Amino acid sequence: MISSMFGWGPARSQRVGARTPVKRLATEEITINGVRIELLRKEIKNFHLSVLPPDGRVRVSVPMRLPIERVISAIEARFEWILTQRLRLAATAEPELFLDGDFVPLWGVPHVIELVRGNDKAQACVAALGVIELTVGSGSTAEVRRTLVEGLYRQQLKSQAAPLLLKWEYALGVKASELRVRKMTTRWGSCNVAVGRIWLNLELARRPQECLEYVVVHELTHLLEAGHGPRFSAHMDRALPNWRDRKRQLNEG
Ligand SMILES: [Zn+2]
Repeated sequence: MISSMFGWGPARSQRVGARTPVKRLATEEITINGVRIELLRKEIKNFHLSVLPPDGRVRVSVPMRLPIERVISAIEARFEWILTQRLRLAATAEPELFLDGDFVPLWGVPHVIELVRGNDKAQACVAALGVIELTVGSGSTAEVRRTLVEGLYRQQLKSQAAPLLLKWEYALGVKASELRVRKMTTRWGSCNVAVGRIWLNLELARRPQECLEYVVVHELTHLLEAGHGPRFSAHMDRALPNWRDRKRQLNEG
């Protein structure tokens, strides 16, 4: 379990001894930015946030009488942390084996893996609608197959991102110096504003293309506005009015 604990408000003198019974009420559920959060109200002084394996379920324990607006703003303040933990969990989840008949997502759509025996160079391709064909030798390991699938993801991501980059550079009146792809554990993308370089997370190839477009627009917008303040949101609203929905879709996973 990856969790974080932090005090709530000024320290109070009220003691909560080890023997004080902790009363639990029924669980409530709230949704913030598309992430469902289990809310437990308890006789506690602290706000306790947890991201639970294996699926990144989010649970928050809060003092009994803490108003819901304060609960929400506390969770929002920790939202980057929640996303980071969820990405880390996804990265360390049960390893995929990429065997014949297994499913892997590509652009949000499950694709079935077909293994083809081949003595030539190992390769991966989208052979038909919903089919990823891996050409491998007889004794291929999961690692070899993973490398092939990731190679395919990289190639797909680059070819889908290139026209989006051109489209949005033109629309926003900015120019990125280059676009690169890598595996990232804490972010969907990043932008080095000083040199105009944009990085995309390889994982984006698993998500719907609307999510990729959102990340491309987000990172290019950083060439206009470095931070994530109201000016950044205003640029995003003008460029891609439904960006919040796309962001939600991306975080829903
Ligand atoms: Zn950003």
